[in-house]
Amino acid sequence: MLIGTSADRFTYYSRVFGCQMNVADVDDISARLNAYGGRRVETPEEADLVMVNTCMVRKKAEDKAMSFFGGLKHTINPQGRRPFIVAMGCVVPRNQKKIADTYPHIDLLVNYSDPDLVMSQLMEQFELLASSALDDDFTPAMTTSIGTQNFVTAIRGCNHRCSFCVVPWARGPQRDEPIEKIVEEAQAHEARGARDVTILGQSIMAYGKSSGDGSQRFIEMMEAVLANTSFPWVRFLTSLACDMTDEICERIIAHPRITPLLHLPIQSGSDKVLGDMKRKHDVATYKRMVAKAREVRPDLYLTTDILVGFPTETEADYRETYALMEEIGFDDAFMFAYSERPGTHSARHFPDVLSREVKIRRLSEIIELQRKTSAERSLRYIGEQLDVIIESVNEDGAVARTSFNKPVYMPKTDKGVGEYSRAVIRSVRVSAFTGEEIEVAHEAVPARV
Ligand code: SAH
Repeated sequence: MLIGTSADRFTYYSRVFGCQMNVADVDDISARLNAYGGRRVETPEEADLVMVNTCMVRKKAEDKAMSFFGGLKHTINPQGRRPFIVAMGCVVPRNQKKIADTYPHIDLLVNYSDPDLVMSQLMEQFELLASSALDDDFTPAMTTSIGTQNFVTAIRGCNHRCSFCVVPWARGPQRDEPIEKIVEEAQAHEARGARDVTILGQSIMAYGKSSGDGSQRFIEMMEAVLANTSFPWVRFLTSLACDMTDEICERIIAHPRITPLLHLPIQSGSDKVLGDMKRKHDVATYKRMVAKAREVRPDLYLTTDILVGFPTETEADYRETYALMEEIGFDDAFMFAYSERPGTHSARHFPDVLSREVKIRRLSEIIELQRKTSAERSLRYIGEQLDVIIESVNEDGAVARTSFNKPVYMPKTDKGVGEYSRAVIRSVRVSAFTGEEIEVAHEAVPARV
């Protein structure tokens, strides 16, 4: 759904690669463009402005962005004009010259995708924006849609130095947004009708640790969001076991308005590999934190990231990962094969020795295992009544989302997009449920199953 606030003064198209933080930045920029009379369009050919937000966490993501740039070379809109093209995000800072030389049709390169930075540069260089006036009733967190994914970025960059990861190099050191700004943005989402909010950071539980005294203020920040908004569903992403504490479990994870979703990347089940990865937690710490989270939150929906094929991962190390996955029983997992990223510690110190075959075999095996585990763990929801938000409706029915982000396919709904409903779960598939809508006597619901 588009919230048009002014007469159309220009059109824009956006393409986002990568993580939720990139999505959040483009949502924010889009809201600001709307407030200046911009209108989102579905193809680059219809646009006066094309924005590409890039990712370089794996080589494939970087290649995709580069090939997308190439594809824009001959883009012309029906009026015979070239759109103004802006490339932003993680690929840009380390590839300025390469992009400028190879893709001269790109008009503007912005390091990172920080909305303030992108907007100030666009104001200077994109004529149609510079000549537009801002709507009076604009608030920064006003996004283009009221869906089930409303984001507020609390931390930019990352201070962890995981040896495989390019994020700290691409996004810079950790910068925490002030608590007041986070609360204000969450409130702005609420004011325009959003029912949920997700507070983002590469390592969200490290909130506050970038300040001089290194204090951890995650609990304080989340409690401020909870106290000053009334969203029934509040989420946060991504958590690292090394920043997690019993107190976080008791005060935040157990909170009835915090959803049961905990995304806690483990990467490997081998302490030796975790050490080489420079993760600051070992397997025992990870397991202890999972046990604590499950104790305070019996309905916990636990997801993780797993990275196989790290250069020092032996077959025995890999088996430990496989066994740990069996032991913990994740509800879902994002699984990757190691991709060497220039500039990272592991690229400099560990030659990428494992063959593609070995990496792909290990990856396929864990994907297969996780499919089974996800399917089995999903069975516990059959017959349960779950609160959902309607995401889309068409002739074939509706797609809704649970508080832990699982799609629920329903044959019909009496509700509209963005509204709360309740579904009784009838069957489960690997990554979705099917269910039927039932009467809801209430609007605002806590996140408990
Ligand atoms: N900040 C988060 C996640 C960052 S990137 C954390 O520290 O866990 C998201 C995921 O991409 C990572 O968790 C990891 O599993 C994967 N990833 C990161 N770098 C990678 C690389 N070089 N090759 C393959 N996968 C990688």
